[in-house]
Amino acid sequence: MMEKRKKFILPEAEIPTQWYNVTAEMKTKPQPMINPQTKEPLKAEDLYPLFAEELSRQEINQTDAWIDIPEEVREKYKIYRPTPLVRATGLEKALDTPAHIYFKNESVSPVGSHKLNSALPQAYYNKIEGITNITTETGAGQWGTALAFAASVFGLELAVYMVKISYEQKPYRRSLMQTWGAQVIASPSMSTKAGRKIITDHPNYQGSLGTAISEAIELAMQTPNCKYTLGSVLNHVALHQTIIGLEAEKQMAMADEYPDVVIGCFGGGSNFSGISFPFLRHNIAGKTHTRFVAAEPASCPKLTRGEFRYDFGDETGYTPLIPMYTLGHKFAPANIHAGGLRYHGAGSIVSQLLKEGLIEAVSIKQLETFEAGVLFARTEGIIPAPESTHAIAVAVREALQAKEEGKEKVILFNLSGHGLVDMSAYDQYLAGDLSNHEVSDEEIERFLAES
Ligand SMILES: *Cc1c(COP(=O)(O)O)cnc(C)c1O
Repeated sequence: MMEKRKKFILPEAEIPTQWYNVTAEMKTKPQPMINPQTKEPLKAEDLYPLFAEELSRQEINQTDAWIDIPEEVREKYKIYRPTPLVRATGLEKALDTPAHIYFKNESVSPVGSHKLNSALPQAYYNKIEGITNITTETGAGQWGTALAFAASVFGLELAVYMVKISYEQKPYRRSLMQTWGAQVIASPSMSTKAGRKIITDHPNYQGSLGTAISEAIELAMQTPNCKYTLGSVLNHVALHQTIIGLEAEKQMAMADEYPDVVIGCFGGGSNFSGISFPFLRHNIAGKTHTRFVAAEPASCPKLTRGEFRYDFGDETGYTPLIPMYTLGHKFAPANIHAGGLRYHGAGSIVSQLLKEGLIEAVSIKQLETFEAGVLFARTEGIIPAPESTHAIAVAVREALQAKEEGKEKVILFNLSGHGLVDMSAYDQYLAGDLSNHEVSDEEIERFLAES
């Protein structure tokens, strides 16, 4: 029997008032980030030149499990939060599975992805600390669009370095950023030392997040009253994203269910962390045995084939050293369409959790992700972002496995964004022009050695 379609909507009053900081409850804390100049563990003060001070403190906070969401930020969250939790009965029926599949729909944010959950607090903290200008990088353009809107909401000037391949593949994300008032520069550019160097060394370089981060940091360091912001990887970003899982937890309770497996696609880890950590806390407390699966692209497999070591977050080496699963900060990923997942490393919290076996990771090839994305579109009506299709593909695998085993299973995945600005990728897939891409062991070894 097919279940009736159900959507779980929380009242506005139920928007969480605090974010959840999982590091406070982890038995083995992530290793500290290292200041590359002093070789000492990073202190909040080391980050003040780069990030807003409150964000710097959140970054290294391993003691407070709950951190208040400022009322001004919560007010802005009300533009699109709480987001719906949906039982994907159409997808269940198409797969003929006994599994119950739920997704948290972060695509309803005005910018089309979960990125706004961190863009709003980042813009807010910079604003109240008297900062007037901020810089950032963007891959597929999702973080840039989120920050462009957040900057306009809180009255900040924003410059965005956009990975060149995406600047060309996704011109409408550039238009969105410009409409919200941001200045957008294709990276690598001639406007920074980092950009000029890579253009000289590799004239046809299509850009990477690592390079764009270097450029954005450089501009921030050279501009008065200007700070840098980052949309993934860092601990404070994962912290802000826990609003996803905290809402989902209440909504699963409304549905009278609890997930056996929680899935998120994985770029630097922010949406995966956001949906997972609030549920993970019950595993840590020994109350549940939920599985957590990070879904990464086969062409950028840092979790499944990378190495755990200290590495830089950017190509040039301007960031602190982060203990992470990495393919090496010089890694140049293939031009797959899930631009938001083309990043060489993983955040330090998820890296530690993976090392301890508290979470799992799988890599998926591009064609399987689009197949799952199209199935989801045809059964649930939403065109998923190419990044999100990685989570859907894993949800499909889990649902088919449940069918094979004849077992009920509750699956929860995060729909991190919609793909309405990524239709050229769907065009290519539907025309049969997309291919799988997997990196060879030799390539991975070479990049790790270079880094
Ligand atoms: C940026 C992005 C991702 C990947 O980033 P994470 O920090 O790993 O979440 C995934 N999905 C969408 C829609 C994105 O915009």
